[in-house]
Amino acid sequence: MKSFNALLLASLFLFSCASPTAQQAVDRDDPEAQYVEPFQVFDNLYYIGARWVSSWLLVTDQGLIVFDALYGELTDMAIENIRTLGFDPNDIRYLIVTHAHFDHVGGANRFQRDFGSVVMMTEQDWQMTTEPAVYREYPTPIRHLSAADGATLNLGRTQLRFMNTPGHTPGVLSTLFTVYDDGFPHTAFMFGGVGLNFEGVERTESYINSVQRIQRLEGIEVNVPNHAGSGEVFERYEALQNREEGEPHPFVDPEGWNAWLAELLVNAEAKLAEEQAAAN
Ligand SMILES: [Zn+2]
Repeated sequence: MKSFNALLLASLFLFSCASPTAQQAVDRDDPEAQYVEPFQVFDNLYYIGARWVSSWLLVTDQGLIVFDALYGELTDMAIENIRTLGFDPNDIRYLIVTHAHFDHVGGANRFQRDFGSVVMMTEQDWQMTTEPAVYREYPTPIRHLSAADGATLNLGRTQLRFMNTPGHTPGVLSTLFTVYDDGFPHTAFMFGGVGLNFEGVERTESYINSVQRIQRLEGIEVNVPNHAGSGEVFERYEALQNREEGEPHPFVDPEGWNAWLAELLVNAEAKLAEEQAAAN
């Protein structure tokens, strides 16, 4: 059992999706350092997140869907970004929470309270919200809907298909949906928990199983990551702004998607080998 001080120290230096330097850790909470002007990526998908952690706005004919709530002042920023883009946060019907670490779930309660959004996450990660917070405290969201593996959610003509992809947390929620580039549809996927900062052979095995299940999905063309760095979001957006007429959309990258998953698998297998060696 770790001492309280050790836990405090750990919470300062160990954030939920990677281990930043002390300066990065400070910058991560600073809305000025984290500000990214919101931008449109597809006809129906906008980036409303911060520099280090993402939030996405999916626009449907029957209201808005937000992926991930961020936390603290970064939540305020995401909400303001929705207004900046010309949408009304009161139209947010659903908040999809990829997993119950503070950087994704921290502002969920705010969306429920202020906009009446229905919050969805997996059953396992709902359970995490009633247990002591893993990295940092956040206002507990009111339990709404659990997204079962294989379940779908329809809002107007938009459909989300959910997958439970445990590993990073016990109940990572991944989502498949369609994005449109000037009316042309592309299949997008959000892998809800990528980081390997967790412990134990069993969890690592379940992470590997999740990646392998995702690899078996056919036709994924677009990576919509919940941390911008995992999917080269800003680099691709730069390329999107410079796209010439008739050129492919820089986010449509099935080869890059497959290569990324293969890399995640290699890293996870190395972690598993280390953990198995340590256990023997
Ligand atoms: Zn996390």
